[in-house]
Order: sequence, then structure tokens, then C-alpha cells
Amino acid sequence: MSRRHEELLAAIARRQGLDIGQVRARVQARQARSRGLLGRGAAARSLVLSYALERGGQRLSAFLAAGSRHVSGRSLDDALRAARGEATRGLLTTLGYWPPSGQAPDELARHYVAAVEAIGAAGIDASVSIKVDLMDYREELLDAVLRAAAAHGVRVHFDAQGLETADRTHALVEASLARGAAVSATLPARWQRSAADAERFIAWRVPVRLVKGQGGDPSQPRADPRRCFLELVERLAGRAVHVGVATHDRRTAEPALHKLLARGTPCSLEQLRSLPRLDAVAQAAGVPVRAYVAYGRFGLPYAVGEVFRRPAIAAWVLRDLLVRHRSGTSAAGDLG
Ligand SMILES: Cc1cc2nc3c(=O)[nH]c(=O)nc-3n(C[C@H](O)[C@H](O)[C@H](O)COP(=O)(O)OP(=O)(O)OC[C@H]3O[C@@H](n4cnc5c(N)ncnc54)[C@H](O)[C@@H]3O)c2cc1C
Repeated sequence: MSRRHEELLAAIARRQGLDIGQVRARVQARQARSRGLLGRGAAARSLVLSYALERGGQRLSAFLAAGSRHVSGRSLDDALRAARGEATRGLLTTLGYWPPSGQAPDELARHYVAAVEAIGAAGIDASVSIKVDLMDYREELLDAVLRAAAAHGVRVHFDAQGLETADRTHALVEASLARGAAVSATLPARWQRSAADAERFIAWRVPVRLVKGQGGDPSQPRADPRRCFLELVERLAGRAVHVGVATHDRRTAEPALHKLLARGTPCSLEQLRSLPRLDAVAQAAGVPVRAYVAYGRFGLPYAVGEVFRRPAIAAWVLRDLLVRHRSGTSAAGDLG
């Protein structure tokens, strides 16, 4: 081992908060993948470059999301205004508060309770979407949200976050059901575990929001999201209590709704307000639409780092740079 190479590995380890063994393993994996094209020095430098690109991608994502048109506004009032707008068009909504990074779990729970109370006061048909991992899975905080929800007749939806959050999130879904709470949960299609999760959700009789999934699953990185989605539709059709088909991809939404309806499964189309909407597909199928009203600090509905695999993302980034957030306006209503 040359001293310079070891120093480079040590520097990467320090910067990334890894131990040097992990860095060495990553460099070796790169060398192996390159089939001898990269020497260990070049493999280490390519690792540095990847980390730099990832950091750049994260900064760009944070910048785009900060002024993002993907939120209906910063405040609960903005979200309620948007939800009322959807309701006047006969549509259902779910209010999803996206916290700034580092927001304390109890403060986040207070936001959710406030959303529940505001829906109750406004008398609109809306649920509240929550992220229990960001509440540190704290049962007393979830309990406060569920109690408010029961008092106001509002359903609480468990959003899916990363793969590593699924077990603890589902444990809380199960515990909430056991106490009779009205809850529903997201099922991301791209994960290997999702077929088993679908079986659990069917058995628990919990309404499902089916999505392609923002985060992938390293155990099946090449999984085709559309195919995975439609396989799960096949599994859920005729068996799930309710399926929210949450996609903006017409070639996924149409067959999914038709399959579910053919098997007599109650279903709806769920849409993010900021993306081009498929409300007409739902109308043609005769199912309701539920719009996800994101507010606070929303993330982006795509991964900037995927741009090389999916060049369309470059155009979406450009559009998000040009069309910045206008508080209080219905960014997406404009698209719908
Ligand atoms: C209501 C709802 C709730 C969701 N909840 C969750 C959740 O809890 N957990 C989770 O992991 N994921 C969630 N997602 C995100 C989901 O996993 C996908 O990442 C996201 O919906 C993109 O996949 P798609 O099938 O909708 O569209 P894609 O197949 O990615 O795209 C379909 C079409 O939509 C258009 N489009 C897509 N993105 C853009 C864009 N940024 N700008 C312009 N046009 C665009 C393009 O025309 C594209 O061809 C949710 C999605 C929806 C709709």
C-alpha cells in the first residue's frame, strides 16, 4: 500500500464519516466493477468525484425545494386554502406537512395535530399524511395525533420514507389499528419486501396508497417501477379494502384502476398537486381523486442524482429553477 493512497483513503473516510475499512471496500468494489480498467488510485479518485456530485445534487435539491413549486405554501393556512379549492371541484385531499430538516419531533407532532384540528374546523373531506420516522417513532407523539384525529373524524395516513424506516413504521400502523384508529399506509412498489407488506396490509384491512417509491431498494436496483406497481395491483385487486393509485404515469394509472375496478376493489386516484395531473383518467374510470397538498418545506418528487439514468429530470430541474414558489398560490392547481 503506498502512503499517498492510504492518505487519500483516510481523507475520504474523515470527510464521509466512514471508517477506513469501509472506504477501502468501496474502492475495491469500484475496481472490480470496472473489470480492471481502473487502478486503485483512479478508483479512489472516482469515489471522491461521486461524493462531490452527490453533495452537489443534495445542495441543488435543497435549493430547489426551498422555493419549490411542489408545495402549496409554507403554512397551514396556505394548505387549507388549497384543500378548499380542491374540495370545491369535488376532490378529496390529504394534507402533508413537510418539516424543515432538524425540526424537533414534538414540534412536528404539533403541526400534525394542528392540521387535524383545522380540517375538522373547515369541514372538508381530508386526511393528514404523517412521517413517523421524523417523529422518532415516539408513541406518545403519535398518540396525540391519533387522539385529535379520532375527535375530529380525520384519517391519519402513514407516508413511506426510506426502506430502513419500513419495519418501525409498519409496527406503528399495526399498533394504531389495534386501538381502532382510522389509518392508512403507503406501499412503495420498488422494494423487494413490498409483496409481503401488501399481504400484511390486506390481512390488517388497512387502506393502501400504492406508489412507485421515491427511494429504491439496493437489493433490486434495476427493478422496473411500472412493472412492480402493476404486480402489486394484481396482488391487491379483489383483496385490499381500498387502494389509492398514486402515480402520474398514465400507463400505470389506467391499467391499475381498470384491474382494481374489474375485481370490485374500492379505489381512487391520488395526485401530487405540483405534477401534471391525471384527473381525467379518474373521471373516465369513475373513481374519486385525492390530491396530496404538501406544505412547509417539501422535498422534490424526483431524485436529482438520477439525472444520468433519466435525462427528463434535467428538464424538471430547469423548470423548478425557473418556476419558484409563490406563497399562497396554487402552484399545481394551475397544472391540473
Ligand atoms: C399522492 C402521492 C403520494 C405519494 N406518497 C409517497 C410516499 O408516501 N412515499 C414515497 O416514497 N413516494 C411517494 N410518492 C412519490 C412516488 O413514489 C413517485 O416518486 C412519484 O409519484 C413519481 O412517480 P410517478 O409514477 O408519479 O411518475 P413518473 O413515472 O416518475 O412520471 C410520470 C410522468 O409524470 C410527469 N412528471 C413526473 N415528475 C415530473 C416533474 N417533476 N415535473 C414535470 N413532470 C413530471 C412526466 O410527464 C412523467 O412522464 C407519492 C406520489 C403521489 C402521487
